[in-house]
Amino acid sequence: MNDSPETPSNFIHEKIDADLAAGRYPGVTTRFPPEPNGYLHIGHAKSICLNFGTAQKYNGSCNLRFDDTNPVKEDQEYVDSIAADVKWLGFNWEGEPKFASDYFDRMYACAEELIRKDLAYVCTLTPEEFKDYRGVPTRPGTPSPHRDRPVDESLDLFHKMRNGEFEDGTYVLRGKIDMASPNLHMRDPVFYRIRHAEHHRTGDKWCVYPSYDFAHCLEDAFERISHSLCTLEFEVHRPLYDWILENLDLPSPLPEQTEFARLNLTYTVMSKRKLLALVEENLVSGWDDPRMPTLSGMRRRGYPAAAIRTFCEKVGITKYNSLSDMALLEFSLREELNKTAQRRMAVLDPLKVVITNYPEDEEETFAAVNNPEDPKTGTRQVPFSREIYIERADFMEQAPKKFFRLSEGREVRLRAACYITCHDVIKDGDGVIQELHCTWDPASRGGGTPDGRKVKGTLHWVSARHAVDAEIRNYDRLFTDPEPDSHEEKDFRDFLNPDSREVFVAKCEPSLSEFAPGDPVQFERIGYYTPDLDHTSETPVFNRTVTLRDSWKKS
Ligand code: ATP
Ligand code: MG
Repeated sequence: MNDSPETPSNFIHEKIDADLAAGRYPGVTTRFPPEPNGYLHIGHAKSICLNFGTAQKYNGSCNLRFDDTNPVKEDQEYVDSIAADVKWLGFNWEGEPKFASDYFDRMYACAEELIRKDLAYVCTLTPEEFKDYRGVPTRPGTPSPHRDRPVDESLDLFHKMRNGEFEDGTYVLRGKIDMASPNLHMRDPVFYRIRHAEHHRTGDKWCVYPSYDFAHCLEDAFERISHSLCTLEFEVHRPLYDWILENLDLPSPLPEQTEFARLNLTYTVMSKRKLLALVEENLVSGWDDPRMPTLSGMRRRGYPAAAIRTFCEKVGITKYNSLSDMALLEFSLREELNKTAQRRMAVLDPLKVVITNYPEDEEETFAAVNNPEDPKTGTRQVPFSREIYIERADFMEQAPKKFFRLSEGREVRLRAACYITCHDVIKDGDGVIQELHCTWDPASRGGGTPDGRKVKGTLHWVSARHAVDAEIRNYDRLFTDPEPDSHEEKDFRDFLNPDSREVFVAKCEPSLSEFAPGDPVQFERIGYYTPDLDHTSETPVFNRTVTLRDSWKKS
């Protein structure tokens, strides 16, 4: 991604500047540590851009590390999709992807080291008792009756835990820290628990698994991460992160955790649990449904990776939680697509126009500009003949003066083609307009302006004889409420937008068949589209990425 502008500065970079100036770290090593229990979403993109962008800025490196310490919810499918999504966003990790599960032996050895130092012990309180003893922040907790268990006994029990001699939930390994700390995370937190479960990579080798807090700091230390960047909710875990690392025999400098605000976006949900529910309850077609806030969904919908990176930059890195507006994301999309999308004509709601003074057995082509923002893309030839389609909404009977489209007796320009004037409106028995009869002015051929007369309206059109049918999927926001999961009395599902997906067939310019999934195209006067990734039908399928203008402002 050498063409991207340098990552703008933020408070994390200021801290890194200070760390480097003080000689605290020889260089910058970051990591992006997803848990492979779901697909990546736009919130993860913020973390990816920050971690990889920071490494780039300081000529350091960034690891992709799968934080796969929970055997129950993780899956190879998620591992593969995550790696593909990070690449698609435009980033490369250092070396091979890393897996927390590759460190299980070393983590286990660290746990033994803490037991030997009398800084961890095996406890048999039930989960309910554990909570009761831990207490509330305002009063000191009660020490577990097993807190002073002799080191040898804890070591022996820990080995038996590992050897599968106990049932799930019967024994845990806990840190011996401070039962009076106002920070509950420091009141002898759980480091290891028993879980007789198959792990997606280590199989049945292990039946004890480390807690997130125990594992994460060790993963960072083993990989010699300098700056461990995570979201704000981990701020209260930081003393524990530091305690674990400082009490083990690890090479210095130790990694340091810094927190930033997570991305929240209007009109969507971002929790993996809720996204999984949408998928499993068939409320969407899958993780890559174009309405999902997942990177795979956005890719399928036609969001360019560059627009997502720009959006993440615009949102910025701060220390306070806030809600970002979907309109800002859509603005970034339009800005990018306006530069990169070729223009084509497609008529979504066709009304036939017969050009009565154009011979039936003739046809010709007109050169149309592919992208006025990018002259390199040149022109293409668009076929024209006696019968064409225009949008039904581009014609109006008894039109007001300011209606600069077609009406009886009025003249309009057909984009890149010629001028036509409407003379007759043909209706069926119910008064529904069937077709329009128009004449063209051959002197306007190719879009020239005969005798300098003014024609205000320009319509898009396709030749009926040459048109290709395409299935159009118009996607809209998945939820009608800006904060669908913030209502106490209602479920986020109650706010699903019933009109978030509209499917119909349109008449398109033949050259649309040249586009491949992911290629952006602007349907003139309508919006940005891209071919769908995996359509099986004969007809091409186009997903709407975003409308040309923000139509949600009004509502
Ligand atoms: P969830 O709570 O929905 O399961 P998560 O935070 O547990 O999400 P992880 O796979 O653990 O998901 O996340 C990987 C990295 O991405 C973490 O460092 C996490 O802080 C970061 N991340 C996740 N969601 C967001 C978000 N909305 N904004 C910024 N960073 C995020
Ligand atoms: Mg997580």
